[in-house]
Amino acid sequence: MRKIIFISALLTMLSCNKQTGIDPNINPFFQEWNTAYQVPPFMDIKDEHYMPAYERGMLENLNEIDAIVNNPESPTFANTIEELERTGKLLAKVSRVFSNLASSNTSPKLQELQRDLSPMLSAHYDKISLNQGLFNRVDAVWQNRKRLDLTKEQSKLLNDTRKGFVRSGALLSDDQKERISEINSKISSLSTSFGQNLLAETNGFELILDASDLEGLSDAVIAAAADAARQKMENSELEEDKSKYKDKYVFTPHRSSMYPFLTESTRRDLREKLYNSYVMRGDNNNGTDNKKTAAQIAKLRAERAQIMGYKTHAHFILDDNMLKTPKEVYDLLNKLWDPAVKRAKVEVADMQSVADAEGHDFKIAAWDWWHYSEKVRKEKYDLDEAAIKPFLSLDNVLEGVFNTTNKLWGLSFTEIFDIDLYHPDARIWQVTDKDGSHLGVFIGDYFTRSNKRGGAWMSSFKGQSNLDGRERPIVVNVCNFPAPVGDGPALLSFDNVVTLFHEFGHAMHGTLTNVKYGSMAGTSGPRDFIELPSQLLEHWASEPEVLKSFATHYQTGEPISDELIDKLLNASKFNQGFINTEYLAASFLDMDWHTISADEELKDANKFESKSMKKIGLIAEIAPRYRTTYFAHIFSGGYSSGYYSYVHAAVLDSDAFEAFKEVGDVFDPTLSSKLRSSIYSMGSTEEAMDLFVKFRGRKPVIEPLLKVRGLDGTE
Ligand SMILES: [Zn+2]
Repeated sequence: MRKIIFISALLTMLSCNKQTGIDPNINPFFQEWNTAYQVPPFMDIKDEHYMPAYERGMLENLNEIDAIVNNPESPTFANTIEELERTGKLLAKVSRVFSNLASSNTSPKLQELQRDLSPMLSAHYDKISLNQGLFNRVDAVWQNRKRLDLTKEQSKLLNDTRKGFVRSGALLSDDQKERISEINSKISSLSTSFGQNLLAETNGFELILDASDLEGLSDAVIAAAADAARQKMENSELEEDKSKYKDKYVFTPHRSSMYPFLTESTRRDLREKLYNSYVMRGDNNNGTDNKKTAAQIAKLRAERAQIMGYKTHAHFILDDNMLKTPKEVYDLLNKLWDPAVKRAKVEVADMQSVADAEGHDFKIAAWDWWHYSEKVRKEKYDLDEAAIKPFLSLDNVLEGVFNTTNKLWGLSFTEIFDIDLYHPDARIWQVTDKDGSHLGVFIGDYFTRSNKRGGAWMSSFKGQSNLDGRERPIVVNVCNFPAPVGDGPALLSFDNVVTLFHEFGHAMHGTLTNVKYGSMAGTSGPRDFIELPSQLLEHWASEPEVLKSFATHYQTGEPISDELIDKLLNASKFNQGFINTEYLAASFLDMDWHTISADEELKDANKFESKSMKKIGLIAEIAPRYRTTYFAHIFSGGYSSGYYSYVHAAVLDSDAFEAFKEVGDVFDPTLSSKLRSSIYSMGSTEEAMDLFVKFRGRKPVIEPLLKVRGLDGTE
């Protein structure tokens, strides 16, 4: 099978030069791409082309910036802000191809390049964002903004551009700038240690079991644990270590190992042990403890925010978001908190009855949750995945999502077979608008493979802009669905279907975009808004009317039954009390850590966390989704004061979909076109809240979300 793919790739490779008009003696990034729709000439791009293209791209970019700064004419919107939009074309051309392939189709060579490029690029962008001459020109235009007669989009671009410089420290004194860069580098090394400690702590615990400890575990889970032990044995150098693992079974605090054990094992003592190893990561008072590291990061962030002129780090971060202040975030979290905990308490009671009926005399504890909730799930929400999959072949689901956007916005998708992509699994479609005009190109790369990173995402190979003529985008969705087995089609789980609709929602945001300035196109908006267009499309996947239209059995052609649909939709309400409570608790913790003030003394992380959780009344049966010492999203990732974003976007999408429910037609033409004109086509050309209000006629409310998640007390 693999051989055939390889040969066919070779064949297409031979025929490709004719198609792209690329001169093989010149780096493809230095040539015009006269390919269909300007799809990158993947077959002509070799690993050795990237670095020279990056180097020239960065140099050209800096020269373009110099030209703007040294322009003898006084600064205007056109010669400064608009010119900035035109800079960096070569760099973008190579970056888009490289960063996409480094994620979806990587190799040791690309990974090496990535490591080399990362510091080069960050130094490059620092040179631009810290360029005082450039900021002075931008600021001069901004100071003069009232007299400029700018369009709404231009005003937003001007504000955003200046804000970007200011948020990098452009208005600070030299001393302050120096302190900021000290803080930045301290935070960056503390964040790195935080991540490395966490990795060490997660890898540092193992539950080594004998065959007699495996009560309740399924064959698959046992086989995986035996395999883990075998691997540990092979990797051990010392004989005594090897014997430690011989004929044993190993479980670890990695979720993929822990959750199956917590779900299936009937050994309560062992569940407790493994669970505790997970929640105590980074909190063991050893060399890889994260308590102090986390507290130091939080304190440094507070100091940086204060220098920047903000009350706290959260104020600084949120200033760029749709929710603007900590108060707005806390208000949202508080509104959801009570219904979530109320529901979680019902779930505890349900589990307690199961345990009682089994004759146990213990109270449900945190480490019992997976085991007993699984029993409740089987009783109340059981769903046979195997019975559903035959209705969800990839091609059916694609047809379903294409039809959905056809009914909403009149879009059509035509698959193109004579364009060579970077991998044979990737497919490409032309997207045309209602009137038949070209709207964009969509690439779908759906199957998992070893050189693709995990998860699912949307990205683009070409952006959209109307600044110098009409440029339409090339958008890509990458997923990790199981590849087809044998001659059958690829069959998806319903979770996969929801993921496909989600990423397709991002793809539509990237395709329907119609703005003048490319930096504001598509998915460029704030973090707590950009999941709206994706999560919103998920709602159509769960609509019985839509499901029935595409979910037909791949062998018999019969449509999915109402009974199966009911089971499917009912299953989505399972365990929502737990899921929401643990998530919201972590969101509160994130906000609490980032609303401390700079001059407070360094916090004791455990005391801080207990106080924070006590304040909201977290129940003992649930830990926050992330405790402080392993909250990598906020202490070694980019989510500080932003972990709430997921639920904020969920409020928006549930409320937006409710508009369709209110009129009784999920394809209501008036609403569909309003959705396109006020959200999907707008990029970040207006404040996100204004865009939402434009569509909904008012600010978002949380009731539809409570209903969707079964938290409205109707169960
Ligand atoms: Zn998303």
